[in-house]
Amino acid sequence: MRDLHEMASCLDPLQRPLRDLRISVSDRCNLRCAYCMPGEAFGRGFVFLQHAELLSFEEIIRVARQCIALGARKIRLTGGEPLLRHGIERLVEMLAGLCNNDNEKPVELAMTSNGLLLAKKARALKDAGLMRLNVSLDALNETIFQRMSGSNNASPQTVLEGIAAAESVGLTPIKVNAVIKRGVNESEILPLARHFRHSGIILRFIEYMDVGTTNGWRLDEVVTSREILARIDNEYPLMPIESHAPNEVAERWAFQDGAGEIGVISSVTQAFCHTCSRLRLSTDGKLYTCLFATEGTDLRALLRAPSGDDTALRQRIASTWQNRSDRYSQLRHEMTEALPEKIEMSYIGG
Ligand code: SF4
Repeated sequence: MRDLHEMASCLDPLQRPLRDLRISVSDRCNLRCAYCMPGEAFGRGFVFLQHAELLSFEEIIRVARQCIALGARKIRLTGGEPLLRHGIERLVEMLAGLCNNDNEKPVELAMTSNGLLLAKKARALKDAGLMRLNVSLDALNETIFQRMSGSNNASPQTVLEGIAAAESVGLTPIKVNAVIKRGVNESEILPLARHFRHSGIILRFIEYMDVGTTNGWRLDEVVTSREILARIDNEYPLMPIESHAPNEVAERWAFQDGAGEIGVISSVTQAFCHTCSRLRLSTDGKLYTCLFATEGTDLRALLRAPSGDDTALRQRIASTWQNRSDRYSQLRHEMTEALPEKIEMSYIGG
């Protein structure tokens, strides 16, 4: 087998390198956000994946190792809600070992969480080797937060306490993601911006997307990034700043008065498919090459094959990426026919 460094750049037909692996470690969540896992579709009777269907930690490590060999430089743990996965700290530790394994370039290990369990787990995650954290928070107003999150008892205060705990153990800089849906939480744009000014936390606003098939998405419920920036600029003048990397999804803006940075992620109005370097691994071991994919490539059977041969695993991952042509957001507005069933975001991570 060619060594870990040899194949450090696997390109798709649009010359996009595989750079980011997003691993969904749980299809379950302790919230029912309207834009991701609406309560109507994911209600009491919904059948979630059973434990035997989930990839084990060892299987996840085998996939991650091959993706790093193929050029991945960032691994992000997602869900559903990743902190619901039993023993998540152990997986973080195993992945951190892989990420720090004298690779050619360091591999970043990050997580996206809704923050509800963060206050309890922040220390253990940091000690296990987690490097970066994104926390979802769509409102500070409790009523609006509960309307967006489909929960009648969760509180934004719990999320803020989780963020504070993560900060106190050094999981910084933290990014906070807020999805804005017209008619629900656009009134929270300024309160959120105001709250995180001077905090060192990077607040990013995400345009509401037509992910999956259950969130009832409508274009007129999208609050565009332009509108979000205008609302903030009107009160706190902003200036654009350089992105960190060509494949960064967020457009960065700084407060002119030095109070920090915000970002906007504009999948609907300013598609970034031309630099998309993200591969997604679902909770039950399928590869998805786009957030709006309709089908995946199974790895679980290969992972559980008696041979346990990871050369075949690397070849399947490489060929999946090398045959990838996804650019859904770029083509969204040209599509005349509805796409077949798109995969649900809660199954492959945002
Ligand atoms: S729509 Fe698909 S290809 Fe485009 S940026 Fe999103 S995940 Fe990447």
